[in-house]
Amino acid sequence: MLEKWIVGVDLGGTTTKLAFVQENGELIYQWEIDTDNSDAGKNILKNISESINQKLTYLKKEKDILLGIGMGAPGAVDINKGIIYEAVNLGWENRFPVVQILSDLTGLPVVIDNDANCAALGEMWRGAGQGSKDLVCVTLGTGVGGGIIVNRKIVHGAKGAAGEIGHITVIPENGSPCNCGKTGCLETVASATGISRIAVEAVQNENVESLLKQTYEKNGTITAKDVFDCVRENDLLAKEIVNKVSFYLGLALANIGNGLNPEKIVIGGGVSKAGDTLLTPLLTYFKKFSFTPVAQSTSIDLATLGNNAGVIGAAWLIYDRK
Ligand SMILES: [Zn+2]
Repeated sequence: MLEKWIVGVDLGGTTTKLAFVQENGELIYQWEIDTDNSDAGKNILKNISESINQKLTYLKKEKDILLGIGMGAPGAVDINKGIIYEAVNLGWENRFPVVQILSDLTGLPVVIDNDANCAALGEMWRGAGQGSKDLVCVTLGTGVGGGIIVNRKIVHGAKGAAGEIGHITVIPENGSPCNCGKTGCLETVASATGISRIAVEAVQNENVESLLKQTYEKNGTITAKDVFDCVRENDLLAKEIVNKVSFYLGLALANIGNGLNPEKIVIGGGVSKAGDTLLTPLLTYFKKFSFTPVAQSTSIDLATLGNNAGVIGAAWLIYDRK
C-alpha cells in the first residue's frame, strides 16, 4: 500500500504548529511558523500553504502523498460550512471561509474544528484516551478549554459551543469576572491565571508566614507553578489553595461525569504538569461529588501528548472523514 500522510495544523495567535502525520496518527515530521496576523490575517493561510510545499520539497516528497489538511483554530467554528465566525487574535471576522480558501490554495481537502476539540481528539487517538470511545478532555492553561467526545465524535451542539467546560459556573454568587462576561466560571479558579490570582489574594489577605508569601515578596507575583512547588515543600497556605482549586475542578468534572459517564476525563495544559500534586486532591473531590457508578467507572488521567495533541487531533479530522 502506498504511504499516505495527513497534514495537521494547530493555528494559534502567535505561532502555527504544523505536522505530517501517518494514517495511524504517528507524527512523522513537525515544525512551526509565525502566525502573521497583520492585514486582517490575509497572509495566514497563504503562509501555511507555502510552508507545506517547502517541507515537501525539503523531504523530497510529492504533493500526492498528502490526503488532506486538518486544522484546529481558535474561536467558534462552523465545521459544516468550514467557516470561523470570528477569531479576534488572527484578525479574522465576519464568518471567515477558512476551508474554501485553504483548499483553493493547496488543492487538498480541508477540515477544521476548534483547537480545544482537536486537542481532545489527539488525546483520544494517540494519547491518554487511546482506546476510549467516550472521553472528555479539559485543558488547564491560561484559560480552561474543553472537548467532549461521544462515540469517537466531538459533540458540537447547536452553535458549536458544546464542551466549553471552562464556563461552567462553580461559584454562583460573588465569583470573579470571567473573560466570557459571566462571573464565577471554572476558568476563573482552575486556569493558571485563576490559580495565580487566588494565591496573590491569599497572601495579601492572610497574615501568616509561608513559603508562598516569601515567593510573592521576592517576585512581586505568584505563578500557578509556584503554588504547586510550594505544596511539594509542604507549605500550608499553598496546600489550602490547591485544595480550593481541586474542590471547584472536582465539582465541575463530577457534574460532567454525572451527565456523560465517559470512560476517561483527560486533564491537559500547563497546569496539569503539577501531576499528582493536583490529581490526588482532585480525585478526592471528584469521587465525593460523583454519582457512585460514575465514580467507579470514569477515570481521571493526565494528558500525555503535551503540545502535540493539537496537530495530531487536527490530522484525525481527515482520517475520520474517509
Ligand atoms: Zn466564563
